[in-house]
Amino acid sequence: MRFKTELNVDLSILANNFKKLSEITKKNEIIFMVKANAYGHGLISTTRFANEEVGIKEFGLASLGEAIKLRSSLPKLKFDISVFSELQFDNVNCRELYQSHRIIPVISDLIDLEIFLKDSGFKNFPLRLHFNTGMNRLGIEMNQVQEAVDLLKRSGRSTVDHLMTHFACASNSMKTNSHNKRQIQNWERLKSDFKGSGISVLQTSISNSGAIEQGVGLEETHIRPGLMLYGPSSMIPPIRNQSLWDGQNISTLKTEVLKVFKVDKGQSVGYGATPSPESGEVAIIALGYGDGFQTSYQSSHIAGGRVLGRVNMDMAQIFYKGSCPFRKGDELQVWNNNQDSVMSLSDESGNTPYTLFCSLNDRVPRTFKNS
Ligand SMILES: *Cc1c(COP(=O)(O)O)cnc(C)c1O
Repeated sequence: MRFKTELNVDLSILANNFKKLSEITKKNEIIFMVKANAYGHGLISTTRFANEEVGIKEFGLASLGEAIKLRSSLPKLKFDISVFSELQFDNVNCRELYQSHRIIPVISDLIDLEIFLKDSGFKNFPLRLHFNTGMNRLGIEMNQVQEAVDLLKRSGRSTVDHLMTHFACASNSMKTNSHNKRQIQNWERLKSDFKGSGISVLQTSISNSGAIEQGVGLEETHIRPGLMLYGPSSMIPPIRNQSLWDGQNISTLKTEVLKVFKVDKGQSVGYGATPSPESGEVAIIALGYGDGFQTSYQSSHIAGGRVLGRVNMDMAQIFYKGSCPFRKGDELQVWNNNQDSVMSLSDESGNTPYTLFCSLNDRVPRTFKNS
């Protein structure tokens, strides 16, 4: 735990981002992805606000454990929770947890589909099926549609409540990338296979942030944004300028300057005795890899300076040519609400906004405000 260092989450910006998103996606319902602690921002506070103040009614998580935590922390609120990857479906105790906590499994293979259909506890649960259209991670295979349809018919189900797939390369161009083109073709084929099967499909979704930012998948009933609602673009630099998204980061990562001192050119600083590139000033900040301030940020620009030498467990050094604008005890912002402050650190350090956010751990307190 730290005192002055904090990730300050401004939930009113989440509301603004949602409004901006609704302008691009006027007709779509939203499943807001809040897995991995709401992308590092704090699962409970983020979801509570998104539901109560923004009106989002469906949330997506990766694991049953996250889902139970969310449901039991906000027992009075009414929203859907879907679990996408770690289902634990072969375990009868876990299946009972889905039922008692009203958590919806997203079924990604025929083994789990059979279990779901046989278990009478899921009789009144919506059936959400995830197909592999070419990402080759989870998902029922394209050549298993008939088998899935047969299983449904045998168990007396005539509808799939939600049919979905997930793109492997949505951060790349949805128009020219060959993987994306093939996945879209397979998706269209999948829908037409279902159309001819006698099983009706009520809802569909294919798009995460990268696809939504390119206006793809908006003819489906739902979209599944994660990253963009937290602010950044998911698209990669050469084509990022084609993104429709101009969100604001909902968080500011603040830390404290512990010390400022003058250095001469070549003077060594910190672990590994990294020589200073020029004469100037160095600020020592109270963030290190023990907080999730990654070692790969070495040499990246932060708060008008550059990370000099090795990132330590508890501290890092920021070099300023000439004089440093901060003094001991001052607040220094690693990133702020300006979208570019996260994107540039992520680009420069060879990361993604996803990894920047998710690397922050419990040692950094999350604080929340909503105006
Ligand atoms: C995480 C996830 C999303 C959201 O992805 P973003 O790139 O953060 O928008 C959507 N769908 C599925 C299946 C996911 O796992």
